[in-house]
Amino acid sequence: MSARRRPLVAGNWKMNGLRACARELAAIIAGAGELSAVELMVCPPATLIAEFAGFAGGTPVAIGAQDCHPEPAGAFTGDISAEMLRDAGATAVIVGHSERRTFHKETDADVRAKALAARRASLLAIVCVGETRAEREGGSALEVVRSQLDGSLPDGSTADTVVVAYEPVWAIGTGLTPTTNDIAEIHGFIRQRLASRFGSTMGTMRILYGGSVKPSNAKELMSVADVDGALVGGASLNAQEFLAVAGVYR
Ligand code: PEP
Repeated sequence: MSARRRPLVAGNWKMNGLRACARELAAIIAGAGELSAVELMVCPPATLIAEFAGFAGGTPVAIGAQDCHPEPAGAFTGDISAEMLRDAGATAVIVGHSERRTFHKETDADVRAKALAARRASLLAIVCVGETRAEREGGSALEVVRSQLDGSLPDGSTADTVVVAYEPVWAIGTGLTPTTNDIAEIHGFIRQRLASRFGSTMGTMRILYGGSVKPSNAKELMSVADVDGALVGGASLNAQEFLAVAGVYR
């Protein structure tokens, strides 16, 4: 972790959370004061963004969204634009999560369009990439990540507009994690690709690791070179666990 990059720990609540879960947010906000070295973000379901953003306003905890539509407005029943998320109080949006790529058949071009929409609406785009188990076992993890990065990141991406999240699909929600050597290899590779495409300023773009991060493994995972924080799923639903993950940066 370079001194130029402030770590980010973002919680992806996925399709979990009712209004009563504001108490978890309240507990995260209460614990955030002791964690000034790390940026904290909670990405609840869209139904909670406005309420949570109101609650978290003026605190160190940012509120993000989990997806957006590429268009600013129009006849897209059930979809939500980046502008709407911004209007509701979000400051970031996850795009290209493997669950969106798998269940909604999102392509790299779709993800790129969503990242561009995020930029248009002044939202930070957290762009997810990562290989499946078959791809890792077949030896193509680097090639898959290279292709997703090239296809999903818009031209002109900067450290202020994009965060990359490396999330091996087989590690999400399974309790499995890659070895620290494997994470170091992929994160170093991503850093190189960013530099060759966007220039040396890409040394400041953050690369998160995601996939079964929890309090018991966070220290080890977050100490790997070029890991600038975490995208946390299951463990982010519990304030104490989420704070314990972020607490490795204390
Ligand atoms: C995720 O869905 O982004 C994720 C990393 O989930 P988990 O932490 O539960 O593996």
